[in-house]
Amino acid sequence: MKTSPLPPWPRDELLALSHEALLCAAQERVAQALARCREVDPALPTPKVWFDLKGASAGQAHLGRGGLRFNPVLLADNREAFFDEVIPHEMAHWLVFHLAQGTRFKPHGREWQTVMRDLFGLAPRVTHRFDIQRSQPRPFHYECGCRVHRFTSRRHALVAKGRRYRCRHCDQTLVYRAFVSP
Ligand SMILES: [Zn+2]
Ligand SMILES: [Zn+2]
Repeated sequence: MKTSPLPPWPRDELLALSHEALLCAAQERVAQALARCREVDPALPTPKVWFDLKGASAGQAHLGRGGLRFNPVLLADNREAFFDEVIPHEMAHWLVFHLAQGTRFKPHGREWQTVMRDLFGLAPRVTHRFDIQRSQPRPFHYECGCRVHRFTSRRHALVAKGRRYRCRHCDQTLVYRAFVSP
């Protein structure tokens, strides 16, 4: 088995992609991960791919529906984490599902961990850093020249201590406007 991670996706290119292009690139990354899995299971079926997950979960492998689901909001905000980790994570579930007796294994049990470690060269972590961040309330509304940005209380406290944030779209410094109860 290979133990090196999938080739890194060029970071600048990834961050510059439009939403449409990002979804296409994610499909391509799924195909790369699938190709890696077929090195150990050449008969592994091609999963369908949906970008319809909401809330705090980044991805989901769905044997019944025959594919992988991803969260498009988290994907847009955490592009590198998705390409480096979330996509291989879900593809590892897909591979394990299709092993003999695969549906009887624990979701993040020994078999899944082995695929993550030995096939994708990744630490078999179950949660992603951003899951927690995104599920936190963000009642502090900041503005730039183009949109509203929602901050957590932690980030708002950093601003109070002098930290400044800029909008990556219009480059203006974000200014505190309102507390909006979630
Ligand atoms: Zn999982
Ligand atoms: Zn802006």
